[in-house]
Amino acid sequence: MELSPEEDHLARTPVTRLKGVGPKSAERLARLGIETVQDVLFHLPLRYQDRTRVVPMGQLRSGEEVALEGEIEHVEIRFGRRRSLLVHLCDGTGRVILRFFHFSAAQKNALKKGMRLRCFGEARNGPACLELIHPEYRPIGGNDEAEVEASLTPIYPTTEGMHQLSWRDLTEKALALLRDSRTGLQEWLPAELLREQGFMALSEAIAYLHRPPPDAPQQLLLEGRHPAQQRLAFEELVAHQLSLRQARQMQQRHQAPALPGDGALRKALLDELPFSLTAAQQRVLEEISADLARPRPMLRLVQGDVGSGKTIVAALAALQAMESGCQAALMAPTELLAEQHLKNFRHWLAPLGVEVGWLSGRVKGKARAALLDDLAQGKVRLLVGTQALFQEDVHYHSLGLVIVDEQHRFGVHQRLALREKGARGGLWPHQLIMTATPIPRSLAMTAYADLDLSVIDELPPGRTPVSTLVVSDQRREEIIGRVRAACAGGRQAYWVCTLIEESEALQCQAAEDVAAALQSALEGLRVGLVHGRLSAQEKEETMQAFKAGEIHLLVATTVIEVGVDVPNASLMIIENPERLGLSQLHQLRGRVGRGSVESHCVLLYHPPLGQTARERLAVLRDSNDGFVIARKDLELRGPGEVLGVRQTGEMQFRVADILRDHALLDDARAAADRILKDYPERVVPLVKRWLGGNTRYARV
Ligand code: ADP
Ligand code: MG
Repeated sequence: MELSPEEDHLARTPVTRLKGVGPKSAERLARLGIETVQDVLFHLPLRYQDRTRVVPMGQLRSGEEVALEGEIEHVEIRFGRRRSLLVHLCDGTGRVILRFFHFSAAQKNALKKGMRLRCFGEARNGPACLELIHPEYRPIGGNDEAEVEASLTPIYPTTEGMHQLSWRDLTEKALALLRDSRTGLQEWLPAELLREQGFMALSEAIAYLHRPPPDAPQQLLLEGRHPAQQRLAFEELVAHQLSLRQARQMQQRHQAPALPGDGALRKALLDELPFSLTAAQQRVLEEISADLARPRPMLRLVQGDVGSGKTIVAALAALQAMESGCQAALMAPTELLAEQHLKNFRHWLAPLGVEVGWLSGRVKGKARAALLDDLAQGKVRLLVGTQALFQEDVHYHSLGLVIVDEQHRFGVHQRLALREKGARGGLWPHQLIMTATPIPRSLAMTAYADLDLSVIDELPPGRTPVSTLVVSDQRREEIIGRVRAACAGGRQAYWVCTLIEESEALQCQAAEDVAAALQSALEGLRVGLVHGRLSAQEKEETMQAFKAGEIHLLVATTVIEVGVDVPNASLMIIENPERLGLSQLHQLRGRVGRGSVESHCVLLYHPPLGQTARERLAVLRDSNDGFVIARKDLELRGPGEVLGVRQTGEMQFRVADILRDHALLDDARAAADRILKDYPERVVPLVKRWLGGNTRYARV
């Protein structure tokens, strides 16, 4: 295929240039953000199937996804718990059964003894021998050797209406165009950098990943550690970094109200507090204070371990805004957390004569109208609530500062919407984001390159650290006894079920069973239950009852909220802790140890425990420092394990994975610096290539 010079830029060649892509498919592809041939080439397989060879049945192992070939020995219908069609297949080295739960009479009749079949599916242990459940299959002729595939078969991420075969066809054509192109895909990474890192050419990496040869290292590919993937991951990290830097630069071009404040309200609050700020709180406050005084919108992330005292820092920042005549808004991800803040803020600010308003989805009718009026008049100087704070009809008089708590629950889009909301008369509000998710610095600098970072790395004095025990669930009775004793002593406890069931429904069922069992074991105590299938209101009511001390033991799935503060709860049992990431366990554990009494956390594991799992739980037992724990989690993380950082929801990568690839992060940041400085014209095409339709991100 001859390409015109214009078309040699695959980034500018529309998909419709590919044969068979008409306006209709183009539209469907556009919905996936695929508009150019380059976009098609960057739509990479999720995994691969090996249809390049036929595996002898005698060598087959359970769990393998394979192509088989054999002769039908016998066809039967079994009537059991579920009616099924069984096809017995053998190839001289062994035998397997093909099992179908859904089948037609025609299908059954077409399968005859003696016929040869080629099939593809995943082998599983069956009652008699290995089975393939609903495999793909087709009859093959007596003598003609049915051909096998020449490369591993790519499986693409897809959506409704696009079949794997269409993707294969589409990528095949795009790859042909790539081969015919004189320039291939444009390299945007500087040549010297490619050399330093020893990376293969971009076009080569892309072609390889779409059609890996039969001897390609499948496991490496599956884990994303193949050199071709690492090369792309690196470029993607660079592109991501550039987009965030760009966002930051844009941000810096906006104007914000300078809010130096006169210090009066802040002093009044500090005088009233029963404690003094820690050095870390003071340092972070100074950073925030300096930002607020400038006529550029602050965008600062405050990280601080659970209990490090972020709330008072937020309150003082809000007061500085008010001292300068502006309003502040504080948003929390759930109603419960928002209410907790409301209580604290009213307690602190009412004596200063500051009116604090409340808005959630449940504030309706007259109350809502009155509040909105007060807000628009500027009578309400601080508004606390949920996402409802930024609904269409909420108008502020002079919003100067937006504070977002536990930000990992909010996506970047909400963050942007907030900012736009407050922008009035060309002035943007300052933004302060608080999170308890401890993210090691190199990760944080990657994930939040558009933000300034502050860390409260010190806990207030006088805390008794939570003591953590690692206990086998063979001692369950004894642990239940501890719960009984704690509650008898006027304390409360959490029992967290980190369930292993696959579906949410099963998880909730299992939590209900645990709650019922505990209730009957703990006669005279009240046991409550929260899980993901309860309505927000049901959850809320139970949580409130727990806060009020009406419930002694709260059984919960991991839905239990980050940041919930029930100082009287001094004992937490976590079942099957080996299933969770360390950071997540640390967050959960942060629910206790909030009062002055000594608190305990029992990690109730199910034996036997592997070496890594043992080490991981020991980390938690030995440390109460979220950052130490997060670093360990990275070091010890086994494949496929989920870490709390994932919850940031910020990092939607195609190839890269900030945990797996964290060794690349520093170099990727340095590369972004170099490109910004020496090759600024490459920033836009790189960002477009990787973030494509997502440019809202880059256009902040
Ligand atoms: P988090 O950072 O987890 O949001 P909070 O802001 O809820 O933590 O603070 C936890 C508790 O510590 C609160 O009861 C708060 O009043 C208290 N606290 C905050 N700062 C200090 C301090 N400097 N000295 C003593 N107690 C403090
Ligand atoms: Mg908090």
